[in-house]
Amino acid sequence: MRQSTGQRELFETRPAWEEDDARQGIVATVVLPDGVDKPLDYLVPEALAAAVEPGRRVRVPLGRGNRERLAYCVAVRSGELPQQPLKSVAGVEDDAPLLAPRMLELTKWMSERWLARWGEVLEAVLPAGVRATRKRRAVPLLVATGASSARKPTAAQARVIAAATAPATAEELADLTGASRAVIARLVKAGLLAAAGVADAPGPTRNARARISHDRPAALSPAQSQALEAIRAPMRDGRYETVVLFGVTGSGKTEVYLQAVEETIAAGRQAIVLVPEISLTPQTCDRFRARFGDVAVLHSHLTPAERHTQWREIASGRVGVVVGARSAVFAPTPRLGLVVIDEEHENSFKQATAPRYHARDVAEWIARAERVPLVLGSATPSLETFARCLAGEWTMCRLPDRVGGSHLPPVMTVDLRDPSSRARGAVSPRLAAGIKWALDAGGQVMLLLNRRGFATHVQCRACGHTVRCPQCDLALTVHRPENRGICHGCGLVSRLAHACPACAAPNLVQRGTGTQRLEEEVRGLFPGARVARMDTDTMRARGSHERTLDAFRAGEIDLLVGTQMIAKGLDFPSVMLVGVVNADAALHLADFRAAERTCQLVTQVAGRSGRGRLGGRVVVQTSTPDHPAISAAGRHDYEAFVRSELPLREALLYPPFGHIVRVVVRSVDEQAAANWAEHIAGRLRQEAAVLPAEATEPPAVRVLGPAPAPIARLRDRFRYHVQAMGRDETALRNLIRRATATLQTPDKVAWIVDVDPVEML
Ligand code: ADP
Ligand code: ZN
Repeated sequence: MRQSTGQRELFETRPAWEEDDARQGIVATVVLPDGVDKPLDYLVPEALAAAVEPGRRVRVPLGRGNRERLAYCVAVRSGELPQQPLKSVAGVEDDAPLLAPRMLELTKWMSERWLARWGEVLEAVLPAGVRATRKRRAVPLLVATGASSARKPTAAQARVIAAATAPATAEELADLTGASRAVIARLVKAGLLAAAGVADAPGPTRNARARISHDRPAALSPAQSQALEAIRAPMRDGRYETVVLFGVTGSGKTEVYLQAVEETIAAGRQAIVLVPEISLTPQTCDRFRARFGDVAVLHSHLTPAERHTQWREIASGRVGVVVGARSAVFAPTPRLGLVVIDEEHENSFKQATAPRYHARDVAEWIARAERVPLVLGSATPSLETFARCLAGEWTMCRLPDRVGGSHLPPVMTVDLRDPSSRARGAVSPRLAAGIKWALDAGGQVMLLLNRRGFATHVQCRACGHTVRCPQCDLALTVHRPENRGICHGCGLVSRLAHACPACAAPNLVQRGTGTQRLEEEVRGLFPGARVARMDTDTMRARGSHERTLDAFRAGEIDLLVGTQMIAKGLDFPSVMLVGVVNADAALHLADFRAAERTCQLVTQVAGRSGRGRLGGRVVVQTSTPDHPAISAAGRHDYEAFVRSELPLREALLYPPFGHIVRVVVRSVDEQAAANWAEHIAGRLRQEAAVLPAEATEPPAVRVLGPAPAPIARLRDRFRYHVQAMGRDETALRNLIRRATATLQTPDKVAWIVDVDPVEML
């Protein structure tokens, strides 16, 4: 038999009579956002040939009814058409590609990396406002005319005129100055403001602009200079490299980012800066704005139209800096020069819903593809990041000291097992003494308690029963002032019963301290102090974080009680005492990262103290003072914790040494959930035992479970999980793919696959 050596030869030797059949044409491969998993091929009619291109959406007929669906065109090829007839593309939705070729490549990679559907990934990387093809509202821009008026302008009018030196919408002017729309309308009528073109859509409000003006320091510290040089080297050579800034809080990491971004802009390139959550990091955003003026800040409060405007501004290449949370990593920068991830250890960089990607891995892919440096910064790098630095794959720059000579505060540990430390409720006598010391010296206090609500649970004194959410396997938390039970799993609010639901005894007591009770307790202990609380209950309204933090900075609050929200990258020079009310609250969760998280949280919050001239202290209350996570945080020696934790992870093949894929099965019917989890576990074990075609030995994959998940019931769904673990991530993913490819999910059961989960509950 003759073997063909390629297309060309095949073509040349084709008998003449087949010429008619071998039709030539253009074929588009499309991916549907949902429903169908597989990419599908469609014929591109002549009339649409110019408009169909990868990255645009097209309308295609689907199924027997040929119902029209919107789909992403991911590839176009021309040549010989396949034997079987193809349906034709019906229309083109977008007048330009929404996704550049590199983004298409990225989304394909993501779908493989996190076992997600390609269509789902495509939807996730495009903001809803960009996907919606509705008409945009044109909003007039106003600018001060400089005309003089007969009458002296009022104070409000003067503020508006001063603010309108550059074109802005009426809404922006109102936001900036606090003036009413009526004031602005009168100024237009008087000819003091005039129209200056239109904006496509209401722009992002700029009221936070230049609220704080951080000056550029005269000189970088030696450690900062070294770090900046480490980022400059790959920039200069036009190559990828990941540089990790491992620096204590206040060591000047942000200043290094700022200067690296400055050089990126000077080189005509764009920078993406990822932060854990915009509303929790107003200071970081302000510093970028203060340094660079116009910064595209992508925060979760943007309307779809605002998001679209930002997207197009970034895509036009006009925006030098993009600051945003996780999804800002997909900002369509045509001239990317640098990616920075601040507080890279934060869990919020991993998306909790499909596609369950991690922004750090996405950023690494992008930085490699674009040949630019990726900078990761943290006082407490994740163990994944640490391990890659220790392996020599990534470059670690240490910034061990605070700039400006302030020292890390001494940490005092209070052993909660000692009954005398509990004499007065949640605040031990030593913590109270510390608070008094700080307040007397005119300093401020931050108290961290990572549990919101008043009491953490309600228990029966007679039988010991704990009152649970009717829909979840979780204890109800008591919230004041209405004294209602709230489930932190599902949010269900219920009236607290007077009698025990189990034994009917009227002996229910509210136990455990949440932030509400702590607030009440410190108000009682320090009647003269101005106390505020910061947790998701008090911070629901838009802008409330900023208001509370501004008030704290202005010295209008003496004592701030809060959840982990207060542990984020905030810089308050007057904080003299940080108290960790219960350091081991999260230490015993059924999650292999519990110790890592605890050490990170305690280290981070401890770093908030003593940043100013007054110095500071930290008091950590704990029942396990000797636990490496607590003792290392107490010595500000995170690396000591890392070195004690890594061997434990290695012995069990936990990340960063192995990879985990977690399957979670949910059902209203407990047996159905258990059975399906059992079935999946069985399939995984089967596949783990067989030899894949490409391997010489079966992959070393361990399958754990099925077992009820640590939260065994949530929102009336029973939850079971199965975990597969292995050293080789590709082999592990392939195994999962083979094991789950042909599964027919039974009724009433839902299940998800989470690759490299950060959440094990
Ligand atoms: P980090 O991001 O590591 O917490 P920052 O960059 O916020 O540290 O720096 C802490 C404080 O020190 C900030 O107020 C910053 O403006 C200031 N700072 C940073 N670098 C220098 C420097 N080289 N000289 C003087 N002050 C600096
Ligand atoms: Zn619940």
